[in-house]
Amino acid sequence: MIRIGQGFDVHGFEEGSGVVLGGVNIPFDKGLKAHSDGDVLIHALCDALLGAAALGDIGRHFPDHDPRYQDVNSLQLLREVMTMLVADNWRLGNADITVIAEAPKITPHVDAMVNQLMQVMACRSEQLNIKATTTEKLGFTGRGEGIACQAVVLIEQYGGAD
Ligand code: MG
Repeated sequence: MIRIGQGFDVHGFEEGSGVVLGGVNIPFDKGLKAHSDGDVLIHALCDALLGAAALGDIGRHFPDHDPRYQDVNSLQLLREVMTMLVADNWRLGNADITVIAEAPKITPHVDAMVNQLMQVMACRSEQLNIKATTTEKLGFTGRGEGIACQAVVLIEQYGGAD
């Protein structure tokens, strides 16, 4: 069986000196406001995976009022999501991720992000695609107020599903 899922997340900028995207620290003249580390890319990816597996959403599993997730490294959340999927015999087919931001520049960091994600997701680099776009200075991302991310995943169930 194969299933598709999609995820979307946004975080606004605040004072700071860098953002975390795809588990990679990117120097920047702002930070992202969040209960966790604000990694919009991983949050969108987690929601896509949970959606494909009919396991709800990231807010249900990792509530933002829970002190356990204060400043949490989102790679840890992704690890926990993958554990849930593997327990149900799901494995990743592929993920296609689009980061929407005017700045910082994403492309120079894509290889490092893929490296981080493939370790946690136990997959090959060709199963992961990360791309970036702007909104041509339109809307909140265009005004540089924050970063949005969309993720689409395909997952495959194997063996005897229960
Ligand atoms: Mg988020």
